[in-house]
Amino acid sequence: MDELRRLIREIPDFPKPGILFYDITTLLKDSRGLKLAVNHMSEALSGQPIDVVIGVEARGFIFAPPLAYQLGAGFVPVRKPKKLPGEVERVSYDLEYGSDMLEIHRDAIQPGQRVVIADDLLATGGTAAATVALVEKLGGEVVGLTFLVELTFLGGREKLASYPVTSLLKYD
Ligand code: 5GP
Repeated sequence: MDELRRLIREIPDFPKPGILFYDITTLLKDSRGLKLAVNHMSEALSGQPIDVVIGVEARGFIFAPPLAYQLGAGFVPVRKPKKLPGEVERVSYDLEYGSDMLEIHRDAIQPGQRVVIADDLLATGGTAAATVALVEKLGGEVVGLTFLVELTFLGGREKLASYPVTSLLKYD
């Protein structure tokens, strides 16, 4: 994991002053880093039936499709408002300042399907909790959430306490 940690670039004051941004593009462009990250994330989820892996726009779209491919599952996108063409379910969630919304196609998940949610990074858990709410609105069962990076000091894991959460790299 040290190898993966070294591949993540830390950028101070992005996107605004006082925020330390964990930039994963430096890991993605490294052929070994990308393979290690996807393989480790998928190993943490293997050994259970999974129907669908959800990726959350935008950086979740990077990891969810290769995970779905490796796990023998389908891929479903959760997107920012007004991007999906079909009928949608939506959920709004609080940000530090204001709120945001996420959408999923109404027919993307069938009741009882076993769903994993993937994203690059778990911070406050707001995005992940909103995605869980969307899956459950459609009758899906969230059997796991997986992240490359977890910022433990922001407490996202506590917000997702009733679900199995795995992350490869923890920063505290
Ligand atoms: P949360 O909702 O858990 O507070 O924030 C997580 C979401 O914000 C994820 O979708 C993630 O892509 C994005 N995010 C927040 N901070 C960072 C960061 O430092 N680096 C990256 N790559 N994404 C971040």
